[in-house]
Amino acid sequence: MESPTETPLEAPIEAPEAVVDDPATHRFECRSCGFVYDPGEGVKKLAIPAGTSFLDLDPVGFRCPVCRSRVGAFKDIGPRNKPSGFEENLNFGLGVNRLTPGQKNVLIFGGFALAFAFFLSLYSLR
Ligand SMILES: [Zn+2]
Repeated sequence: MESPTETPLEAPIEAPEAVVDDPATHRFECRSCGFVYDPGEGVKKLAIPAGTSFLDLDPVGFRCPVCRSRVGAFKDIGPRNKPSGFEENLNFGLGVNRLTPGQKNVLIFGGFALAFAFFLSLYSLR
């Protein structure tokens, strides 16, 4: 059955402009030494101004400032605002990471109280 008065919960999103995945903003990591080129910072040592995309670097002249590898040694590790795995990790640990310090204290002292009660119950067995 169709109900024409019902409005769709989610409007179809044609082009999600909020998720801008511009390769020019991507960071690149040197596979040889782990150096990360951040276009938001540039490389002062090489006189590369902040805001310079890795893709705009001179592929011949650019060398890793740490180990002097060529651009071919660098791999695309994505934009800065997407730290790999960090978002997922927040949901691990039974959500303890999301608790406020106060809530954590309740957990900890609640645990102590429980252990103490258990301890007393063992004593009462004698
Ligand atoms: Zn390197």
